[in-house]
Amino acid sequence: MSGTPALPAAEVLFGRMADAVYLLEPLTSRIVWANRAGWTMLGLSPEEVLDHSVLSLQKDVVGAPQWGDIAAVIRTQSPYVFVGRHRHRDGHEVPVEVVTTCFLLGEQEYFLSVARDVTRRLAIEHALHEREQQLWFALNEAADGLWDWDLSDDSVFFSPQLQRMLGYGPEEMRPLLGTWTGNLHPEDAPRVQRLLREHLDGRRVRYEAEYRLRNRNGHYLWVHDHGRVSDRDGAGKPTRMVGMLQDITDRKMVQLSLESLAASDGLTGLPNRRHGEDFLAAQLDRCRRQGGSLGLCLVDLDHFKRINDLHGHLTGDEVLRWVARTFGRALRRSDLAFRWGGEEFVVICPEADLDQAWQVAQRVREALAMQPRENRLQVGPVTASIGVAVYPQHGQDALALFAAADAALYRAKVAGRDRCELARAEDAAAG
Ligand code: GH3
Ligand code: MG
Ligand code: MG
Repeated sequence: MSGTPALPAAEVLFGRMADAVYLLEPLTSRIVWANRAGWTMLGLSPEEVLDHSVLSLQKDVVGAPQWGDIAAVIRTQSPYVFVGRHRHRDGHEVPVEVVTTCFLLGEQEYFLSVARDVTRRLAIEHALHEREQQLWFALNEAADGLWDWDLSDDSVFFSPQLQRMLGYGPEEMRPLLGTWTGNLHPEDAPRVQRLLREHLDGRRVRYEAEYRLRNRNGHYLWVHDHGRVSDRDGAGKPTRMVGMLQDITDRKMVQLSLESLAASDGLTGLPNRRHGEDFLAAQLDRCRRQGGSLGLCLVDLDHFKRINDLHGHLTGDEVLRWVARTFGRALRRSDLAFRWGGEEFVVICPEADLDQAWQVAQRVREALAMQPRENRLQVGPVTASIGVAVYPQHGQDALALFAAADAALYRAKVAGRDRCELARAEDAAAG
């Protein structure tokens, strides 16, 4: 075959190609030349490959007459694409896509076949077909991790992306429902399971939940999860459910800090009035249901305007922040101090009776009075007047309690400031 004029050209043109290239003799289908990829794909040596033909190598071409038909088509429709299986020397089959071109070199006709191993491509196509439902979902919902739950045995396909999101390496995450349920945050698990059950029972069109999921390191991620039943059995019972999981930790952190900003006062960091009023309402509710008492202290700084006037508004702000910190030291664990507005604060003392509420008020006043030694603002003494009212004696609701405490506060101011005053029975009547 060394005398074949096409060979040197073939070596130059196709010798290094990654695809297998075969030069064929059209009448017999014999291989007259093959590049390196061509003989290695078949497990043959360069010499051995020349003993073969399409008929001996292609499992899907059987007998000379069939080859004759194929050759006729190649001559008229060049290039001709054929998908078949090559026989490897060790007996296994190599799926190939073969593109064949007919050409003339001088008087001599040749077929040039370029064969590509399509093992991987077929495997992917197969997997794609298998995962069609998931793909539909992935493409249409365009989010992060993908899961596919087989309800018959509670096995779950977790996509590589989902596994990565949770910090798992390949093959580390057991493909079972328990892997997911076992990592749900205990506080979120009941709600998430309920939402899931409601969807499976047909009471919810789709399952959707935000919750915390533990990653491989034991930290919790915030995730947004949503999915839908994709297959049912003859009786309509769900057999398969697919969904998407998205890591929303960053967004959630922003949201949570915004929520805490909204509940707290921007200047002092104490709970704000809205939050304080909610807390008071909830505590009063509890008192009414279970019996019990509650104290309310209205704290108004004395001559605060003067501090602003003498030292400037910024220093005034500093003093307010200092006052807020001082509450922390004077209160019981269960007490809540919040900024009512301006230089006025409220302390709520759940389950405190008259005596206990009075003591809290005194401690607040004394803690403020200690400030000349403690704070470096050098604004002179900062004092407060405090009105104290107690549920149920001085009022049955928040409004009445505030009115009673306010009346007491007014008396404290009139009496000379820097003091606590207890609400009186007539204050309650006024409220
Ligand atoms: P008293 O309560 O003892 O009668 O006198 P006061 O000067 O504290 O009384 P008033 O309630 O009339 O004044 C409160 C002052 O607090 C007026 C206002 O400028 C100041 N103030 C309110 N909110 C802030 C704030 O956020 N920062 C600063 N620096 N000052 C504030
Ligand atoms: Mg005031
Ligand atoms: Mg004041």
